[in-house]
Amino acid sequence: MISQFILPTNVQLRADSIHSEPGILYIDTSVCQTCSICPVCNKKSSKIHSRYSRTLLDLPISGHLSKVQLKARKYFCDNPECPRKVFTERFDCEIKPYYRRMIRSNDLLTRMALELGGNTGAAISRYAGVPVSPSTILRVVKRLDIQPKKLTSGVIGVDDWAFKKGKTYGTVIVDLAKKEVVDLLPDRESATLSEWLKQHPEIKTVSRDRYGPYALGIKTGAPDASQVADRFHLLMNLGDATKRIFQSKGKELREAFTLYNQHNQPKNQPAKAIETESAVQNMLQITEDTLTTANISIDKLHKFEKVKDLYSKGNSIRQIAKTVKLTRTTVRKYTMMEQLVKRQAHTTTNLDAFIDFLMQEENRVKTYRELHKTIVEMGFNGKYTQFCNKMNELKNTQPALRPKSTGPILVKTWSPTRLSLMLYMEPCELKRADDKDFLKLLFEKYPQMKKMEKLVKGFKNLFKTKKDGTLKTWIEEVFESDCGLNNFAKNLLKDYDAVNNAVITNISNGQVEGQVNRIKTIKRKMYGKAGFQLLRKMVLAKSA
Ligand SMILES: [Zn+2]
Repeated sequence: MISQFILPTNVQLRADSIHSEPGILYIDTSVCQTCSICPVCNKKSSKIHSRYSRTLLDLPISGHLSKVQLKARKYFCDNPECPRKVFTERFDCEIKPYYRRMIRSNDLLTRMALELGGNTGAAISRYAGVPVSPSTILRVVKRLDIQPKKLTSGVIGVDDWAFKKGKTYGTVIVDLAKKEVVDLLPDRESATLSEWLKQHPEIKTVSRDRYGPYALGIKTGAPDASQVADRFHLLMNLGDATKRIFQSKGKELREAFTLYNQHNQPKNQPAKAIETESAVQNMLQITEDTLTTANISIDKLHKFEKVKDLYSKGNSIRQIAKTVKLTRTTVRKYTMMEQLVKRQAHTTTNLDAFIDFLMQEENRVKTYRELHKTIVEMGFNGKYTQFCNKMNELKNTQPALRPKSTGPILVKTWSPTRLSLMLYMEPCELKRADDKDFLKLLFEKYPQMKKMEKLVKGFKNLFKTKKDGTLKTWIEEVFESDCGLNNFAKNLLKDYDAVNNAVITNISNGQVEGQVNRIKTIKRKMYGKAGFQLLRKMVLAKSA
């Protein structure tokens, strides 16, 4: 009576009795079938060769571990043509050869593995009454047979995801209509993507970021498919371009800052032109030194160009590394960079400009927090910890107090990053009055920068109006205005069709970015145990 509740009705076993040991229930069963099918020739046989016992982990009963015990049999194969002479008993369901678990408890573990990953899955499996180790959990996933998804639409998005950040990357392919991952590729080389695309001729449109190898891979793998450059990356590239322009205009900015600070000094602090000038100089000096690209050695620049050149011709990272005599890591880094910039030094703050002020007698009794707050209001651009480190260092080396000075000069500056963001923002989004005032001053003094602002806003608008041909006009305007965006425009021309598609369609890679984040979460759940194949299975099984 009870046995039918304990075992699935379709299994060819009959529960005879139950006995227990502490924490474990054993269900002793006997096999109902009188014959079995040979796995090689599929012929039935009822000639028993021998018996052996099997113990299989089943789902728990009332919180106790439960194990099914059976005396399984080995059969002779009667078929004289079959190469197999003896085989182990086969069952229709629930019991598979070599398995140490019933299929239903294995299914439970698979679900746990997919939801929770290795370590957490193993921990929960203990409470769920099917205790296994983390490696078993991962093995369960490995055994899953998962086929890549069928595509519903011809529109996919590709992007890279970091297997190990800065070192190894893979490619994720997302069905943009169904919003799910179609497949994962083990690297982000153009050849791999191209191979994959060749096997999927139904693909009509591919959205991608501006990473060169993808463009090449799509061109060779699916020459008829239209490419769409990702909108977000395009806007980001424009931001980088304007930032670089500001970085190269140190002299002009310095003059504008001085002018601004002379006109906008607080009333109680009569401005002295020379002092303001030198304070501005101080503030800019440090940032400028670290940002120029001028002092990168010719040799390094040459190698950078060479790497770019070889890579665009389709050479592999390994080959390039050998030819140029650089490590593969560096080569890979170069292929991803648009321009070679000097590495930023660790101390890029303008803290030095405030040292006199900080060391004044009345400031020595104040807490670090208070002082930090004050100098941030005065224009300090570093972090609190950087400030603390400097203060500790000063206390050790300069125990003597500095003479009381006339007070700090309040100097307001804007970083190239901030400025390029301000160009992008609509006037109503600029909340701070000083931002607006400074832009007004900057544009009056340098009409070229006003032109640049107009172009940045114009580029942003291309994506709103969505008209064919507007991109071409915009690029022409850039060349006419000659305000420093020529290189950016030239790059757009090189990739014109893809960029134009981004302008006139609604396709974007936003969905792909979301999936990349999902991959990241899954990867972390596996605690570094995930090889590519395993991770791929987890991602594909979970997007089902
Ligand atoms: Zn046989």
